[in-house]
Amino acid sequence: MEKGMLAGKTGLVFGVANRRSIAWAIAQAWAAQGARLIFSYAGDRIRGNVEELAASLGGEVLIAPCDVSKDEDITTFFEYVKSKTDRVDMILHSIAFAPKEALEGEFLNTSRDAFLTAQNISVYSLIALMRAASPLFTDGGSVVTLSFYGGVKVFPNYNVMGVAKAALEASVRYLAAELGPRQIRVNAISAGPVNTLAARGIAKFSELLKVYGDRAPLGRTCELEEIGQTGAFLASSASSGITGQTLYVDGGYEITGC
Ligand code: NAD
Repeated sequence: MEKGMLAGKTGLVFGVANRRSIAWAIAQAWAAQGARLIFSYAGDRIRGNVEELAASLGGEVLIAPCDVSKDEDITTFFEYVKSKTDRVDMILHSIAFAPKEALEGEFLNTSRDAFLTAQNISVYSLIALMRAASPLFTDGGSVVTLSFYGGVKVFPNYNVMGVAKAALEASVRYLAAELGPRQIRVNAISAGPVNTLAARGIAKFSELLKVYGDRAPLGRTCELEEIGQTGAFLASSASSGITGQTLYVDGGYEITGC
């Protein structure tokens, strides 16, 4: 990819919690290509982390709170965005949550509350954020979200999050179809397992890493930096013909049969 592919572009970043976050890997890759970024954070506990990381990129630190389960937070966040820019070119949605007890044991025991929480925070948030951002996408753009193969195949303990990822990938297709005429592209990166805060909520996560190491054609899962580079590719004009897709960055695990 040429340098400066995102120069003059403004991106909104949802989902940085710390330096291990996939969102941070993609944000760094976007910034390295010249993008100006506005960061959101979920809750005062992680504000300091996000502020520090955003500052490390240099330039003005643009950061505001947004708990995506609250409509009023989304409204306030976009008021902040509008005070800083009149155009948005990219959105990174790297958010997921399900109660810990729903990410272990039997899927059959998933409670209604856990199911709705997973769908609300991990899926509906993409639709809600896109609706709020829509008027600001005045010159096309690119939206990137994060999925996992557990939305297609069964992975032990992934449970309710697998169903959420299936709904997320379907939402990507519906949004891509609707926003395509405005040249707004919407894609998902289906990443292999990486050790992050969210991943630690999944029971026996280390076994998953081992399975990828044993079976993936590349003999490993992906690196955060590789997800970052794919995020930059999907945001840039290098991927201008791609929308509605789920792109695997997983060491090739997805093609294996056994
Ligand atoms: P992470 O914990 O660093 O990121 C998850 C983010 O979701 C955090 O920043 C958290 O603050 C945010 N979040 C949770 N509830 C929120 C709410 N109500 N409002 C706003 N933000 C909220 O972990 P991660 O692994 O970087 O996860 C990012 C995305 O990548 C998720 O969608 C995850 O499912 C996906 N993913 C992760 C892996 C993996 O192995 N880590 C693999 C494939 C896909």
